[in-house]
Amino acid sequence: MVYQWLNSFISTWLPQSCVLCGLSSHRQALCPDCLQDLPRLSPDLCPRCGLPAGLSNAQDCGHCLQLQPAYHRVYSAFGYAPPVSQLVARLKFRGQIQLARLFGELLAQRLAEHTIQADALLPVPLHPNRLRQRGFNQALEIARPLAQAFGLPLLTGGVHRQRDTEPQSTRAASQRGHNLRDAFRLVQLPAYERIAIVDDVMTSGHTANELAKLLREAGVKEIEVWCVARALPHPH
Ligand SMILES: [Zn+2]
Ligand SMILES: [Zn+2]
Repeated sequence: MVYQWLNSFISTWLPQSCVLCGLSSHRQALCPDCLQDLPRLSPDLCPRCGLPAGLSNAQDCGHCLQLQPAYHRVYSAFGYAPPVSQLVARLKFRGQIQLARLFGELLAQRLAEHTIQADALLPVPLHPNRLRQRGFNQALEIARPLAQAFGLPLLTGGVHRQRDTEPQSTRAASQRGHNLRDAFRLVQLPAYERIAIVDDVMTSGHTANELAKLLREAGVKEIEVWCVARALPHPH
């Protein structure tokens, strides 16, 4: 079904040239060379947090064993590095909303390699101030093609973002957790036991963890995080 949908996606959205190099891309959003160059993650990922763990068998990494995240699995299409980071910036700060469809499609391709365990998708909500400023929620726009590809309902409006937190990247790592406390509020009980949180970029994981905690308190049993790009920790 995913592949059927991908084909129909490609035939309905007809970019004339590659979004990265501008060369003719035979009606694909990315030409084969640029697609090949996107920063893919190594296969030794911790299944729980989605970070490279150097483990050959899919086991939780030391960090996750020590302090278990509230979510159960992370799937990301790419590492958060150029040119994916530049495309994310074009989507969020230059309003190139069509890139959300491209991201959704690429993430769907990645997810098709796995047995996903989700009955509904929850795009990370934006604070109303930021939504007004940007005009759209990039997580929701990325989740739309995913919902279509996997035939899953989109949960919108059930969770409110009640604090207009500063962008994570401008805060020191030690302050990030504190910055997000009580960032979300549940206004409607989720009617599903397995939910995938959808976001553009997963950085520290605090946002997904706060949301996952809230969902688990509300009785959700299985929580995945689907993100376009996973930021890797800086080497010390
Ligand atoms: Zn290209
Ligand atoms: Zn881990």
